[in-house]
Amino acid sequence: MINAKARAVFNPEGPFKPTTIERRDLEPHDVLVEIKYAGICHSDIHTARGEWGPVNYPLVPGHEIAGIVTQVGSEVTKFTVGDRVGVGCMVDSCGECAHCHKGEEQYCLNGMTGTYGAIDKYGQYTQGGYSSHIVVTEGFVVRIPDNLELDAAAPLLCAGITTYSPLRHWGAAPGKRIAVVGLGGLGHMAVKLAHAMGAEVTVLSQTLKKKEDGLRLGADHYYATSDPETFKELAGSFDLIVNTVSAKIDISAYLSLLTLDGTMVNVGAPAEPLSVNVFSLIGHRRSFAGSMIGGIRETQEMLDFCAEHHIAPDIEVISADQIDEAWERVLASDVRYRFVIDISTMGNE
Ligand SMILES: [Zn+2]
Ligand SMILES: [Zn+2]
Repeated sequence: MINAKARAVFNPEGPFKPTTIERRDLEPHDVLVEIKYAGICHSDIHTARGEWGPVNYPLVPGHEIAGIVTQVGSEVTKFTVGDRVGVGCMVDSCGECAHCHKGEEQYCLNGMTGTYGAIDKYGQYTQGGYSSHIVVTEGFVVRIPDNLELDAAAPLLCAGITTYSPLRHWGAAPGKRIAVVGLGGLGHMAVKLAHAMGAEVTVLSQTLKKKEDGLRLGADHYYATSDPETFKELAGSFDLIVNTVSAKIDISAYLSLLTLDGTMVNVGAPAEPLSVNVFSLIGHRRSFAGSMIGGIRETQEMLDFCAEHHIAPDIEVISADQIDEAWERVLASDVRYRFVIDISTMGNE
């Protein structure tokens, strides 16, 4: 077993405490990653607090992982010691079902293995990236291009791929009008990526508080959804709406903003069911859809795209002792736009 330093919560209320966790010895296809940075995702909070179902404690969250390969298993071909790598929301899948064969491991018919809070094929409870080391099978490790900084690359592993995948799937490109609902961790990546893909980008936010930021990030237009005029003015405007908000919103009102054959895709996950007025769909053959992260091949494609287009998230690097505080700030939407933990600050416990 390999000992790793970690920060864990021991009950739904927290707080984080230093601990040591065990990582398995390397199987032939495993790589050992020394984690340098781990991003803080809103899902970490939902999961750790038991809001998405029961979890085992202690729990080490973190699925936006960037680090360096320090050891490889005997049959590893993809990586060598010293490589800069990332690990995202999943660490394994069955590899045999139709969806895995298509490279859509996130939709594995037998259930992908989450980076934390899941049982892996060895019967071990997975623990995430708020830790010094992780052991992952090479097929679920991606390469971080040299011109991406490791700290800024970390959030790409969830926030980046979660927004890149639906933009690609629904054809973000020049001539397409795309709206991004919510300018948080996911939303700010959606704006940067859609802009780099050549689309005309509009941010729909509750207020105009972050308008300057939105335009700087690459948005062409910025509207406040608290203003009823917005919905009148933008009716039938968009080919695609990417909804990054996980709170309950008036879906039918947003659907009315889609043009013929337009799609509204949800990447945030509200805990409560949403209701839809079907008339808002059938009138213009609109679609209401969902999308969850992206496959491993697409995650690598996204990293390469970000490197090529010089795209990185706006981050605030924190120390391991500031995680509790950072979580409170995430809940208060007080982050521009992603917290990243500097794992070297974890110290010796
Ligand atoms: Zn996430
Ligand atoms: Zn599968």
